[in-house]
Amino acid sequence: MRKVLVLEDEASIRGFIVINLRRAGYDVIEAETGEQAMESLKEHPDTRVALLDIMLPGIDGFEVCRRIRATNSRIGIIMLTARSQEMDKVTGLMTGADDYVTKPFSPAELTARVDALIRRSGGEDPAQSGEIRQPPFLMNTRNRTLEKNGQRVKLTQVEYSIMRFFMENPGKALSREEILDRVWGRDYFGDVKIVDVNIRRLRLKIEDNVQNPIYITTVWGYGYKWGF
Ligand code: CA
Repeated sequence: MRKVLVLEDEASIRGFIVINLRRAGYDVIEAETGEQAMESLKEHPDTRVALLDIMLPGIDGFEVCRRIRATNSRIGIIMLTARSQEMDKVTGLMTGADDYVTKPFSPAELTARVDALIRRSGGEDPAQSGEIRQPPFLMNTRNRTLEKNGQRVKLTQVEYSIMRFFMENPGKALSREEILDRVWGRDYFGDVKIVDVNIRRLRLKIEDNVQNPIYITTVWGYGYKWGF
């Protein structure tokens, strides 16, 4: 069953989220504090998605996100932000979150986001197996892994999906919208800026020199291109 962790200290909001996710068929685990969330994830390593509130007593949602990502790159992470403060969102994403939703949100929006994240991380790759070899990069689409010069590059599921889209389209300029559609799905509610944030993070992981990226280049006013 698809397991989701909900970390939210306000009982009424947590209850609202939990009820709606259960109605949508998820197996939901609840946590009131970051510390509790970390414990629960240890007990439930098969959790697919974690919803993390940011403002919490004890360690905050960003710190929880950082700690989860330190050992788990496969789980999907959605931050629950109180206001649409751009900096909060960006900081959250830079610490390893895949997505964010701004309170107040509708049950439909929330379940759509969780569904989309699970779909992307579901290992639902077509049976077509094998490797995409573009030295110094080697992608294994069966294991969903990436190597650069024989060294494993740890990617989140979203980053992997972006990389795969790039490596399937070498030398082709891809618009932000195309990337958003392909990776986040056409039903995604959020902003196209999420593409830029993820690309920035991806560059930190794969470029030799982030100041002067050569693998993922910017196509001004349009999007990005994979090619070198
Ligand atoms: Ca809170």
